[in-house]
Amino acid sequence: MSQTRALYRLQKLDLELESRRARVREITAALEDDRARQQARADVSALEERLRPQETRAADLSLEIKTVAEQTKQLNARLYGGGVNNPKELEDIQHKIAERERRHAALEDALLETMIAVEELQEALSAARAHLQQVEQRWETDQETLKAELDRLKNEIRHLKADRQQLEKTISAEYLALYQNLRARKNGYAVAMLEGESCSICGVGQTTATVQQVRQGLELITCESCGRILIAL
Ligand SMILES: [Zn+2]
Repeated sequence: MSQTRALYRLQKLDLELESRRARVREITAALEDDRARQQARADVSALEERLRPQETRAADLSLEIKTVAEQTKQLNARLYGGGVNNPKELEDIQHKIAERERRHAALEDALLETMIAVEELQEALSAARAHLQQVEQRWETDQETLKAELDRLKNEIRHLKADRQQLEKTISAEYLALYQNLRARKNGYAVAMLEGESCSICGVGQTTATVQQVRQGLELITCESCGRILIAL
């Protein structure tokens, strides 16, 4: 293989290595990106925290309703039991019963309102839990797929690096240095093909003498415009 063709092959390997390394970086970031899962978990916790006091309030209200109902029952028993004959005392009992009944109605209203809130929160919570489950499942599947791809990429990178090392041994130090220098300055593309009589990358036509020299492939010729190493296949 001529030195310039070896450089072209080296560039191909470097570009393949670079694209795989970029994908490895992407995957590593994706594997660490846990935001959707954390958000779904936070949503569930927030709803649980809102639901708890409402449930406690509903239980407290139910208990108080029972207590008030029991008090009303006892007051009615006293009122109609025949044990109390004093009109002032009877009137007092009637007042207390009326007061308990008002309290009972108010408590029923409050309980109904609380039950509606509880139901709404329970619905929201079960939707949030279903969403969390979906997110968790997707996350696990993604993790498996990404880890498998990562393993494949690492293996490919190992092979490409071995190929590159072998190829590098066949290229002179001077050419390698020029290649590395151009690669750094030319966005990874140090070598360009001769397409007809033009540079394949910058598109500028070369002089007849340059074209001939490139086709002979005896020495290293660079593009008259962009300075990349030219090769003819
Ligand atoms: Zn060029």
